[in-house]
Amino acid sequence: MNHRPKVVVVGAGPAGASLALLLARGGVAVTLVEAGTSLERQFRGEALMPSGLEALAAMGLLELIPGLPHRPLVGWRFVVNGQELFTAS
Ligand SMILES: Cc1cc2nc3c(=O)[nH]c(=O)nc-3n(C[C@H](O)[C@H](O)[C@H](O)COP(=O)(O)OP(=O)(O)OC[C@H]3O[C@@H](n4cnc5c(N)ncnc54)[C@H](O)[C@@H]3O)c2cc1C
Repeated sequence: MNHRPKVVVVGAGPAGASLALLLARGGVAVTLVEAGTSLERQFRGEALMPSGLEALAAMGLLELIPGLPHRPLVGWRFVVNGQELFTAS
């Protein structure tokens, strides 16, 4: 009888996908379930934060980034109703 744990991770967002990857790397049989049937959803990828980069680095995934469409962030300018609130660079 196989007593190795089997896990179902529900939701393939960053948290679920990362958890499934780490479990699979650890030898756990994982099924990752995602309700969405396409990658079309409300846009959520304006910027990859430093903590996100650190998480990708910790998972050994940082080297994938150069192969993805992106551009380095040089600064942000926050404008609401035409009024500039602040800039960050
Ligand atoms: C408008 C917006 C803009 C954002 N911009 C940024 C940004 O620029 N940079 C940044 O770092 N963060 C940004 N965020 C935050 C970022 O999107 C979240 O921190 C991140 O997506 C959270 O990841 P998560 O895996 O916890 O959840 P989610 O990304 O929400 O993933 C959850 C997944 O679970 C699936 N799911 C839910 N219920 C079920 C079910 N019953 N069965 C199967 N699947 C299910 C959903 O379809 C979804 O794919 C933004 C968020 C929003 C809303």
